[in-house]
Amino acid sequence: VIEILPIPAYQGMQPTFFLVLFHDRTGERRVERMRSDFVANASHELRTPLASLAGFIETLQGPARDDPKAREQFLNIMREQATRMSRLIDDLLSLSRIEMKRHLSPQSHADLVSVISKVCAQLEPLADELGLVLDFVPKEDSVVVVGDEDELIQVFANLIENACKYGADGGRVDISLNRTNERGEPVIDAAVRDYGAGIPAEHVPRLTERFYRVDVGNSRSKRGTGLGLSIVRNILLRHRSRLIIDSAIGAGSTFTVRFPASSKLAGVPRKILERS
Ligand code: ADP
Repeated sequence: VIEILPIPAYQGMQPTFFLVLFHDRTGERRVERMRSDFVANASHELRTPLASLAGFIETLQGPARDDPKAREQFLNIMREQATRMSRLIDDLLSLSRIEMKRHLSPQSHADLVSVISKVCAQLEPLADELGLVLDFVPKEDSVVVVGDEDELIQVFANLIENACKYGADGGRVDISLNRTNERGEPVIDAAVRDYGAGIPAEHVPRLTERFYRVDVGNSRSKRGTGLGLSIVRNILLRHRSRLIIDSAIGAGSTFTVRFPASSKLAGVPRKILERS
């Protein structure tokens, strides 16, 4: 954007030059476009179940009024749609909360053994229902990282739930914790491995985009909100950690969270935090 500003007259003298300002708005425009795409996607995702709810209500008030079997069936679908909408709203709120603080480092410690054990206990009923074994046998009693426990629970809940939903055919989901090195720096890898259908390579780089979903086989029926991995990515950003996705068609997928091994808190001296 080029802006040409005339210089105002001063004490009756009219200046003969202009001030020319250059603004580079490329970044601003991109953020603006992303924001409006996001609003459009979110409204579309909310409008679809709402339209279907309105349709069912109309049918229940009209043609299906005296058909108890149809009524039962429609009410079940309506309950599912309402649950889906409320999950979408929860995910949208989580995402916006996390995005707001993604540049702030966490100021507490979390034990990954305890975080993952809690998530496994929470997801055991889903795994049972899908005929899956959730396997997590930690080698150490505790593996402490700098992190917010509730947010890390959300990360592993999303990854392990996805492994169950999309990898159910594989019969098992393995979760492991390993200490390793990356370019000479010690890191901790927390890996969630499933033995499901795997993800076509062209989709892998886009999985953490908001609302991005892969349409393969019967995955449509397992659809969540499409925000899970985007929430994971944003939480990991503020944990100075990253998500590594490794997948092979027919052999399953591994989602690894790589944490820096140092458990030193950034910013505020640790002693002060522990006392407070
Ligand atoms: P959703 O709510 O749809 O599960 P996510 O953001 O959690 O959204 O995941 C995005 C997409 O990535 C999913 O819709 C699915 O297509 C794909 N995906 C995620 N995890 C796996 C997995 N373990 N195996 C195969 N596909 C997966």
